[in-house]
Amino acid sequence: MKKYILLLFIFCAFLSCKKEKKEEIKTPVKIEKPKPIYAFGFNLDNYNVINDTIKNGESFGVILDRYHVGYPKINKIATVIKDTFDVRRIRSGKAFTILTSRDSLEKPQVFIYKHNKVNATIINFKDSVILSYKFKKKIKIIEKEITGQIFSNLSVTMDSLNLSASLTNTVADIYAWTLDFYRLQKGDKFKLIYEEKFINDTVFVGYGEVKAAVFNHKGEDLYAYKFVGDSIKNIPEFYNEKGDMLRRAFLKSPIKFQYRISSRYNLRRKIALYGRVRPHRGTDFAAKYGTPIMTTASGTVVEAARKGGNGNYVKVMHNGTYTTQYLHMKRRNVRVGDYVKQGDIIGWVGMTGNTSGPHVCYRFWKYGKQVDPFREKLPSAEPLDSLVKPAYFKFIKPLKVRLDSIKLAIKDTVSAPLNKK
Ligand SMILES: [Zn+2]
Repeated sequence: MKKYILLLFIFCAFLSCKKEKKEEIKTPVKIEKPKPIYAFGFNLDNYNVINDTIKNGESFGVILDRYHVGYPKINKIATVIKDTFDVRRIRSGKAFTILTSRDSLEKPQVFIYKHNKVNATIINFKDSVILSYKFKKKIKIIEKEITGQIFSNLSVTMDSLNLSASLTNTVADIYAWTLDFYRLQKGDKFKLIYEEKFINDTVFVGYGEVKAAVFNHKGEDLYAYKFVGDSIKNIPEFYNEKGDMLRRAFLKSPIKFQYRISSRYNLRRKIALYGRVRPHRGTDFAAKYGTPIMTTASGTVVEAARKGGNGNYVKVMHNGTYTTQYLHMKRRNVRVGDYVKQGDIIGWVGMTGNTSGPHVCYRFWKYGKQVDPFREKLPSAEPLDSLVKPAYFKFIKPLKVRLDSIKLAIKDTVSAPLNKK
């Protein structure tokens, strides 16, 4: 035992000697006081912090009672703050924090109800004046870059990059007018410059905006830059490198990217059974039973019925020129006279009428004549004002350089995120 103590002593002496030597060389280091830790605007050095979650059936009163706040005081708090926070609306599963005094009494002084990772309501009853107010955590936005390659479809690729469905939807929305997601090919690539939001520097709370993107489809680069082209409307839109808006009057498909075109518009289609020509004046989008069907453009519902071979169908008149129709629905979601906005869900994929499998037959009229929308040059939304174009080109120049410099590091089929989370 003595031997060990001696050894320890020698070791300590050695350490202190080493330390002294160091100090001889370096100028004395100023000892810094540890910085106080703040949370929700409170210096945590002054409180005991209790973090907990509201359990099933627990009320504001039950929780405060547990921490020895008397019921007269609980009632007073609830009454005083009722205009800013209704204590009856606290829900089980939500996190809360109680700050208590740092003396032997450990009196509760502050109750913090966390609505989500970002927003909280603070109820401060430390002093005679009871206060309740909202608190929002500072969000740090970090720009990230990512690149991926399609090997089956967009959502599978985004999944494998650990990107959520909401970002997949954003990308699908950006290109909804430009890309036929059914025709995405193995080897198509995309690059994104997008934002991620964090609180406390590390806790991810969601995506910000996608600022720029490029989709390489069949070797062709389709650029998209988010830009406010109309300072009065002040709504950002996506434009290509020429300054043309990506948004069109019509979506490419009434189904959001998880579909397969099973039959195209074809005036010379032969029906196998009869061996004769029977034209197909629609495009069939096969999708899972129950998949939402969107109206490809805004307009008024002029027909919504169940009739013969059409089954459950909806017809939308967009203007004097264009009308679209959607057949074989499982169920309709609109009535005649409804105004629907582009992308609104008007029904769900089904098998009503003449069909051999779940699909939506999409029909397209121009001046009362059925045409193939894939062969039509469809109108784009407003072009960029020529006066704004120079500013636009200046704006996108560094973004294009950045997009072009993102390297696709191919690991089998998918690349990893370039930036560490
Ligand atoms: Zn059809």
